[in-house]
Amino acid sequence: MEKYRETGLKLTPQRLAILDFLDGNTSHPSAEDVYQEVKKKFPTMSFATVYNTLEALRSRGGLLELTIDPGRKRYDPNTEHHHHLICLNCKKIVDVHADFKTSVPEEQKKGFQVIGNHVEFYGICLECN
Ligand code: ZN
Ligand code: MN
Repeated sequence: MEKYRETGLKLTPQRLAILDFLDGNTSHPSAEDVYQEVKKKFPTMSFATVYNTLEALRSRGGLLELTIDPGRKRYDPNTEHHHHLICLNCKKIVDVHADFKTSVPEEQKKGFQVIGNHVEFYGICLECN
């Protein structure tokens, strides 16, 4: 929660409910998932409010945007460096904490100074198998 305060976002009760749902959440929810959850507490909340709050957080570095699911943009409140594994059937995304020691071959760097990577694994989860 503390890191959200540092983003300088004005914390309305609705926004607090969104932050509360995201805090420690490892399910990598889409904007729609967040909306469905927070709507239970604030039935008048619009999807636009949820989406705009998520985007405001993302642009301030409080949330990561994941593009591993081609169907929906997914959000990750864990901004520490880690990787992801997605189920191709149900689109469940789980965290992968490992150091893969991957690198770009020298002749393909084209002068880039490489500062990071994000590895996306895909497969079929236990429930779907
Ligand atoms: Zn699955
Ligand atoms: Mn993650």
